[in-house]
Amino acid sequence: MPKPYASDWREIMERTDILRLVRDNIRNLEPYSTARDEYRGALGILLDANENPYGEGLNRYPARLLRSQLLERIASLKGFAPEQVFLGNGSDESIDLCYRVFCRPGIDNAVAIAPSYGMYRVCADVNDVAYRAVPLEPDFSLPVDRLLAAADGNSRLLFICSPNNPTGNAFPEADIRALLERFPGMVVLDEAYADFSGQGSLSRLLAEYPRLIVLQTLSKAWGLAGLRIGITLADPRIITLFDRVRYPYNIGTDTLALALRSLDPVRTAAEVATLKAERKMLIDKLKGFRCILHVFPSDANFLLVQTPDPKGLYRHLLADGIIVRDRSTTAGCGPALRLTIGTPEENQKLLQSLQAYERQA
Ligand SMILES: *Cc1c(COP(=O)(O)O)cnc(C)c1O
Repeated sequence: MPKPYASDWREIMERTDILRLVRDNIRNLEPYSTARDEYRGALGILLDANENPYGEGLNRYPARLLRSQLLERIASLKGFAPEQVFLGNGSDESIDLCYRVFCRPGIDNAVAIAPSYGMYRVCADVNDVAYRAVPLEPDFSLPVDRLLAAADGNSRLLFICSPNNPTGNAFPEADIRALLERFPGMVVLDEAYADFSGQGSLSRLLAEYPRLIVLQTLSKAWGLAGLRIGITLADPRIITLFDRVRYPYNIGTDTLALALRSLDPVRTAAEVATLKAERKMLIDKLKGFRCILHVFPSDANFLLVQTPDPKGLYRHLLADGIIVRDRSTTAGCGPALRLTIGTPEENQKLLQSLQAYERQA
């Protein structure tokens, strides 16, 4: 993969705003380089990496070429240049990299909405970065002013998940723009569920805001959670930093090859359409149950529902072999369960189990 700006790296660092948010040690990092990075010719006799010479491919470290092929494929699917795309071991790696690149342990802080995806806080704790959780409004809308009020001169990251997990709602573009205009650090927009939202992705805002980092993933709509591939879209300078800090071989050979073979936009679009139709069906049906107090609107492939006895309903469903997520101890959700939209058959089984629950109650 070409490393943009490599030659005048430090000079660009000095004079560019977003790079002033980068930790000094990361800005000055000499990344690990492998012998094969320097050798671009046809593959010869490989005596450089202490691999076992016997084998049919997996005896070798992952090839650069395979990684750049997947990168180019994903970049073209997303409508971005490869220089604007980073591939990580799931978005979870990118969340961690945001902290490692931008936040000085014990000094800087991150601001985030609550409730939201649990990994933002876990990675903050791992990296010894203070985490300032700002509750969503009671209707789950974005508290723009309170998010900005929570920030100070050491706020390097703002995490916004849209559509948000676990509340399911997407936030309006105008609110995201307001945060991008006024938040003093990097704005990380996690779009793991954007494929299920009518609003779609806001990644086009990257053209206007270099402080935006968009996280996407192959784990949800693309149906490849087992592969562990996360996609980060950002300014090429940030992508270069992520590539310098990541482990040299963060995605294995088989994973890269399988991803290249499995990416199928036509199949994905058809599955997303089915899941959205099932979502609508489930919302309508669930509203007819006495044991469901409230179904929140959803732009994602799950529904957050409130029920008088979430633990009891959870156990009932479990006894029927249906596993859902209990969110009743998550602040801001109320007595809630989170239900992923399954296949039509699975969703019917869920409804049947709910009917049985109501009959016995
Ligand atoms: C599921 C999910 C992800 C995906 O994480 P991966 O590591 O890419 O599997 C990211 N963000 C949110 C909010 C999620 O719910």
